[in-house]
Amino acid sequence: MTPQEFAISAKDPLPSRETCETWDAADPLRGFRARFDLPKTVVYLDGNSLGALPRATASRLREMVLEEWGRGLIASWSKAGWMEAPARVGARIAPLIGAAPHEVTVADSTSVCIYKLAMAALALRPGRRLILGALGDFPTDRYVLQQIAGRSGGAREVRLLEPSALAGVLSGLSTRIAAESIALVVLSHVDYRTGALNDLAGLTAKAHEAGALVLWDLSHSAGALPVDLRGAGADLAVGCGYKYLNGGPGAPAFVFVAERLQQDIRQPIGGWMGHTDPFAFAETYEPAEGIRRMLSGTPSILALAALEQGVATFDGADMAAVRAKSKRLGQLFLDLAAARCGEFGVSSASPPDPERRGSHVALRHPGAAELVARLAEDGVIADARPPDLMRFGFAPLYVRYVDIHDAVERLRHALATPPRRRWD
Ligand SMILES: *Cc1c(COP(=O)(O)O)cnc(C)c1O
Repeated sequence: MTPQEFAISAKDPLPSRETCETWDAADPLRGFRARFDLPKTVVYLDGNSLGALPRATASRLREMVLEEWGRGLIASWSKAGWMEAPARVGARIAPLIGAAPHEVTVADSTSVCIYKLAMAALALRPGRRLILGALGDFPTDRYVLQQIAGRSGGAREVRLLEPSALAGVLSGLSTRIAAESIALVVLSHVDYRTGALNDLAGLTAKAHEAGALVLWDLSHSAGALPVDLRGAGADLAVGCGYKYLNGGPGAPAFVFVAERLQQDIRQPIGGWMGHTDPFAFAETYEPAEGIRRMLSGTPSILALAALEQGVATFDGADMAAVRAKSKRLGQLFLDLAAARCGEFGVSSASPPDPERRGSHVALRHPGAAELVARLAEDGVIADARPPDLMRFGFAPLYVRYVDIHDAVERLRHALATPPRRRWD
């Protein structure tokens, strides 16, 4: 079944709820939903913001708290594998992003890791002034870059461009930006609002031709679609642990540094956990070999245990099947929304081609925030992004085709029924 089979033209009958049920019954990923503890009456379309709770997480955390911490006490740093947890969980994330196991670790938050990697990248490009970012990219990414430039004593400057303009600028086609002045490009693989998918391999190649490095933010792509960092020759990447990776609220982030850069990279918060020999308590900082030098302080072992269970929900999942289902879910949603909600002034803010989208879409409507609140009252969880976007995420491991059908029908209902007055 190709995604086009969901394309709905005026003469086609809309897929019924029963048709969606037959698709769910034939879904090669249908067994994965049982790995999650989802409330029965809720249609959860916000796994791109906070992944659902894996069933294994609560018992694993209980065991870790009561046994490893409670009984094992400090010996658990070695006996329970706490010391290796960042590298171990990183290695489990690696296949989801096309990295080698020793190229990924887990640390801090995405924001902090962006700072660490951007600073490290800039140190590798000392003579170049510009950091290119994307207009409308996730705020933290832009804030961190702006502050790096602000503290650089004038040596660095951030320019925010439309993502579609980046390729031309990197190819030297801009009259205002010299390609040889670009040190670093920082870009989300998938746009957090519209789901637009940027060309990871193409932009990486163009940046390298210009002599620049690229830091990819994979927050909305890790676990949502296959990513091939090695195949793309990527330099650096970060991403969220609590979105599609299901690591729980505030889960630590993951960090990727290509093997070929690991020798030279120096991060700005070189603390004892990234020291070559933490328990030597040496006088001076000496970075560890390999990816471990990206660590700073003591990691949250409880959070790492939860993230490990989140990542384990992908065990045995074929990422090609994940991608295929994600595209079908998204297309079904957009087609049904166009047919059922279009008359109420709802339009799509996402690329029409499923190949150009990640695993979420955005609909535009002036009443977005209130509609999302009313959907929540009706058991459909999505989210709103100002000024007028409703965002719907399709985590392929647990979202079903019937969920899409039900969500669109309830959105239609919310649009068709005037909001209740407050005093009713
Ligand atoms: C969710 C998200 C973040 C979150 O950063 P935190 O430091 O975890 O709060 C950063 N960047 C992008 C693109 C995101 O989507």
